[in-house]
Formats: sequence, structure tokens, C-alpha cells
Amino acid sequence: MSLVRVALPLPLPRLFDYEALDACEGDVGRCVRVPFGNTEKTGLIVDCLSEPPPIQEGEKTPFEYKPVLSIDRSKPPLPADWLALVGFAARYYHAPLGQMVAVALPSVWREGEATALLPSNPWLALSPEGEEAIGDLRKKALRALLETLRETGPQRLEHLRASFPQALLREAQTTGWLKPLENAPERSSLSALAPEPVAEQIAVLAQLRAHLGKFRSFLLHGITGSGKTEVYLRCAQTVLAQGRQVLFLVPEIGLTPQFEARVRARFPDNHVVCLHSKIAPKRRVQGFFEAMSGHAELILGTRLSIFTPLKAPGLIVVDEEHDPSYRQHEGIRYSARDLAVWRARQWQIPIVLGSATPSLESWNHAHKGHYHLLQMHRRAHAKAVLPRIHLIDLTQQKVPEGLSPSLLRALEHRLLRGEQSLLFLNRRGYAPVLSCPSCGWASPCPHCSAHQVLHRADGRLRCHHCGTQAPIPRVCPSCGNSDILPWGQGTQRVEETLARHFPQARILRLDRDSAHTQGQWARFLDMIAQGQADMVVGTQMLAKGHDFPKVTLVGVLDADSALFSSDFRAPERLFSQLMQVGGRAGRAEHPGEVLIQTRHPAHPLFACLQKHDYAGFAALTLKEREMALFPPFSFQALLCVQAPAIETAMAFLEKAMACLPHAQVTALRVYDPVPMRMMRLAGRERAQLLIESDTRAALHRFLLEWLPGVYAVRRDTGVSWHLDVDPLDL
Ligand code: ADP
Ligand code: ZN
Ligand code: ZN
Repeated sequence: MSLVRVALPLPLPRLFDYEALDACEGDVGRCVRVPFGNTEKTGLIVDCLSEPPPIQEGEKTPFEYKPVLSIDRSKPPLPADWLALVGFAARYYHAPLGQMVAVALPSVWREGEATALLPSNPWLALSPEGEEAIGDLRKKALRALLETLRETGPQRLEHLRASFPQALLREAQTTGWLKPLENAPERSSLSALAPEPVAEQIAVLAQLRAHLGKFRSFLLHGITGSGKTEVYLRCAQTVLAQGRQVLFLVPEIGLTPQFEARVRARFPDNHVVCLHSKIAPKRRVQGFFEAMSGHAELILGTRLSIFTPLKAPGLIVVDEEHDPSYRQHEGIRYSARDLAVWRARQWQIPIVLGSATPSLESWNHAHKGHYHLLQMHRRAHAKAVLPRIHLIDLTQQKVPEGLSPSLLRALEHRLLRGEQSLLFLNRRGYAPVLSCPSCGWASPCPHCSAHQVLHRADGRLRCHHCGTQAPIPRVCPSCGNSDILPWGQGTQRVEETLARHFPQARILRLDRDSAHTQGQWARFLDMIAQGQADMVVGTQMLAKGHDFPKVTLVGVLDADSALFSSDFRAPERLFSQLMQVGGRAGRAEHPGEVLIQTRHPAHPLFACLQKHDYAGFAALTLKEREMALFPPFSFQALLCVQAPAIETAMAFLEKAMACLPHAQVTALRVYDPVPMRMMRLAGRERAQLLIESDTRAALHRFLLEWLPGVYAVRRDTGVSWHLDVDPLDL
């Protein structure tokens, strides 16, 4: 009798065995359709057993195994190293394997038969027929295409797409004038675009190249503009030349369209696939398949691309490794950065974690010698200098509309000189609150412990947490007062204020409301780059990795909220955001200046920032963390519960507390259940229980013992829970 062991996407910490007479070892890693209760489900075969497992105590005998419905053999099975990765992730995050598989595997792979999993980016060459046809061709464009290929030799389809329309390329293929090649032509993958590396880059590259083919974690700490990306690309080039693949993780690819273009332009002879959540499911599965078969040589993606199977991996790069978006915040929580390090060890290849402001976890690893620290202190571009950072003390200046007189003066100077300014404010909308001065009503969201934000342009109040919206009331809904007022500043209001102060200026606002689509976003970035705006107001999304050579002034309007936050990671995030924001200024010939408005100019964070002293800031903050026994000096897990009412959520946690294992609690601290900081979200009330340990091993031993008990706790209606291992937000 043959049995297959199947991981099903269910919130149950177990696998399911089914009978499959024709199954063999080669089916491990294949999708399978099975009966489940009254329905059917698709799962993944993770093991194949030749005889049933021994009967456990209390089980009815003999167990009757249901037969599988069908095994999907239209696609290759997922490789063993991929299964090992997903298995590790499931164990580490204490998630059911089937749910982890559902996260890791593109939905189209699970659902359907393989349709056309043909290489999407073949090499195209001019065929003899094409050669002959050129002379007689009257259609100019087609002729230009064929002539180009005659001159350059074979080219990648994607690369041709940059210069020729899709229809034309299709026509040239259907006529047989361009033919796909079976094998890649011999060619060194270097483009003429690469600048000569500078001394610091040369030193770093030598270290990296010396470790190709071996596992090693590198932390590349380089200030913004020091040429980290150049280093990744150079190193990637070496790896590609060895016939190996590169996995390149970036935080949010949608925000940096130029980056993808930069990579593609640099490697015209290589097949680059881009994987992120905005990619259509069919294309995602195509990319997944091409990476697995080795057709794709460079895999560029956001956190989910850590689950891409590679045929011949040679290097992993995690750019902006400190970025919180590497952490999955919903469903099964995982850190793509941490999994990437595991993956590199499994593959025995080097990994480069790069950042101007590394996470304190990684910095700490580097100082303990777990990671090899590489540093670049100078900007690569010969003329670029670091911006000067000044603080504007808001206790000394009045700021009726969020903009201090000093900042307004600085903006005016830039405008007169024809230079660009960027203003950062992390609050979109017109004002964060609409309030009633007479009774204290403050536009509460009916479903969240949060305020609805005033969006004046389209006349709505909107909750940024749950999306609920309502028309703007004309009188206070609570007391009827007709003098209700916007309170505080959002990007729309700042835009309005600027327009009043500088009627002659071209002002652009960039946030999620003004740039809905990737296309719009790219157009805005282009406009800035081409100098079509004098002042740009935007949220944090503007700060991520863009080069704005004409910007000479950066203003930060709201630095303070993070300084005294109850979240111990808030200062770390603020520091890195401010460093990044500052990095936008003075990247070319013009020196930049950063002005930060604050009520706490004496805060030590600013002193480090003004000196561009990440190391100083990190040392200071790590010392505080060590004294408070916060991560990375302790290891945490958070049990989070959601319920219709907070009492129910708390009651669940009390019951979960009751089944804590008694043994080995010495290295461990279990805190009392508490409501979450933002207790109500989208109509659900939330509570949490924090577990903290001095060692990772003790934490995981504890969770292993405890979780079966938590699964067994009877849940009242509407209660759901999840575990967050190494949580980022408490
Ligand atoms: P980072 O990723 O560290 O912010 P980049 O690699 O994007 O830095 O480089 C910043 C700027 O400096 C880019 O405009 C890049 O083209 C330029 N640059 C990088 N390396 C060199 C070099 N060796 N010579 C000249 N310019 C360089
Ligand atoms: Zn009122
Ligand atoms: Zn809400």
C-alpha cells in the first residue's frame, strides 16, 4: 500500500495521509487534489510512505485512508531544498506546514495544470530567411529590427522590447525571420554602462568575490550614495559569468521603477525576472518556474521572492536590509531577510545584507562576528558630498501651519535659485483629525481605535487603518456645533499652504492618494528628475532609494512623534528614515541641506544624525536595549488574539496562560495579557501576550511545548489568534 503525506492549507498543526496507489518518491513536491470533509482541497505532497505509520494509542484500528483524487504531474515537483526551506520556515515561525506552503507557492502553481511554461525571454537571432528578406522589406520598422540583429547578433527578447514594439517583434517571429536560439550564445555579461569602481568598492568587491561558492553573511554598511548598488551589480556580474543565479531582494519594487530598469539595462544578455505581489499571478508563476528551471538568471523581488526555487544559486543580496517591509505582517508572519540568511547557508553561498542604517539586529551580529562587516564611508560620485543637517527648534518659533519661518525662508532661497526642495510629512490627507473645540469630538473611526483623517479634496473622512469613509459632516455629530476645524497637518494641507506662500512655484504632492498606480508614480518621479517641480511634498514613500540630483533642500516636518513612542523600535526607524531622507539631497554637483523641525533639539538621536554617525547611534541604542533586555538581547514571541469584544480576547489569553508548561521557565518571562496598543481594528478587538527569553533555543523549546495546548483551547465564536515570532511591533 502506498500513502502520501500531504500538507493542506489549514490552520491545523498537522499533516494528512492519503492512499495513492501509483505514487512514488518522485511525487514528493507535487500538488495533489484530495477529498477533505465534504469538499476537496489542493495540498502538497511532502512525503511518500510505503506502509501506514504505526497505530497510535487511542486511534481506531485499522485507519481507513481515503484515496487521493489526482496528482498534478504536469509540472516538475518542487525540489528538496525548497521543501526544506518551507519546512524550516514552518518550524521556526511555528506555523502549520500547509499554510506556509500556501504562502510560499504561487496560487496558480497550486491551482491549475501547467499551461505555457515556456521560456518567456528567449534569445532571438536573425534566420537565413530573415537575412534574405531584409533587402526587399518596405516596412521601415521591421527592416530596422532585422538590421539591428544582423549587426549585434542574437539578443534577448526583453532587451529588444525596450526599442521595438511588441507587435513588430511578434510579426518578425511568426514570419520566421527571427528565430529563438536553444542555447545562450557565448558572451560576457558586461555592459558599457558600469562606472569604474572606486577604492572602497574595489576593496569590498575583493572580499565578496573571495567568498563565492562558500557560505558567508556580509553586512555591507555604506552611506547613501556610497555605491552599494554598484557593488551588488558588479558582484552579480561575476556570479552570472560563472553560470550561477542571483537572488536580489529589495523592499518595495513598485516604488523604485528606475531600479528595475537599471538592472535590466546593466544585464541585457541575462534574463531578469521580477517578482512581487503586484505582478499578475500568471506572470508570477512564470517567473517562479523560470527561476527553478534556470532560465531566469537574475531574480529581483520583494519579500515573497525569498521562496523562489533556484536551479544554480550563486549569490543573495538583500538591499536596505533594515527595511520593515521584509517582514510579513499578515497571515503567517515571517522575515524574508532572516530566511535569506538561512537560505544562503543551505545553499552554501554568500549573502550580502546592505544598508546605510543596518537593523540593530544585524549590526549586533556583525559586532559579535556572526556577520562579516564591510564598510563604505564615502560617496562614490566624486563631487557628491553629504548634506549638512540643521535643526529648527520649534519651541523658539511659531509654526501656525506646520512650516516654520526658517524653513519658509530656506524654501524661498531655493526657489529664487531655481533649485528643488523636498518636504517630508508622514501623514497623507488634509488633516489627521477633524475636531470640535466645544465638545472634544475628534472624528473617531467607528471600527478602530483611531481617528478618521480629513480628505478635503474629495470631501471625505477616511480611516487609514480599515478604509471606512464618510462624508465630511457640516456640524459636530456629537454636539451640533457648526465650528468644527481641521486639526494638524497632512500633505494636502501643506501643499495648500505652500501654494499660498509661493504662488509662482510649481508644487507637486506625492503620496498614496496622488499616485495610485505604478505608472503614475513613475511619471511623478520623472517630472521631479526633469526639474518640472520646484517643491515636492511627500510621505516616506518618496524617500526610498531615488536619486534626485537637482534637490538641494530637504525639510522634515514631523520628526518628533517617534522620539518618545512606546514602541522601543521607533527611534531606530526614525533615525534610518531621516538618514535616508537626507540622502536625497546633494547627490550630484549641488551640496544639500536638511532642515528638521523639532521640539526636542537636544535629543541624542539628532546629535548622531548631524554627524552622520550611524555607528554612534547604534552603540547608544544597543546599550539602552541591553539594559532593558530588549531584542537583540532577548528573543520574543507574541500571541495575538482578535475577537468581537476585548473581554473575549483577554479570556482566551487567560486560558492560554493556564496551559503554560511549568518546566524550564527560568530563562523565560511570560508577561500578562494586555490589550494591544491599537486595541480596535476594523471592528475587531485585540489583545496580546508577550513571551521573552534570553536565548532563542529556550524560546523555541517553550513554544513547542506550549502551542499544542493553545491549539486545544476552546475558542468562543469569532475568536482567532496567531503567533508572531520575532515581532517587529509590540
Ligand atoms: P547606494 O546604493 O549606496 O545608494 P549607488 O550604487 O546607487 O549607491 O550609487 C550612488 C550614485 O553614485 C549613483 O548615481 C551611481 O551611478 C554613482 N556611482 C556609484 N559607483 C560609482 C563609481 N564607481 N563611479 C562613479 N559613480 C558611481
Ligand atoms: Zn461638538
Ligand atoms: Zn477604521
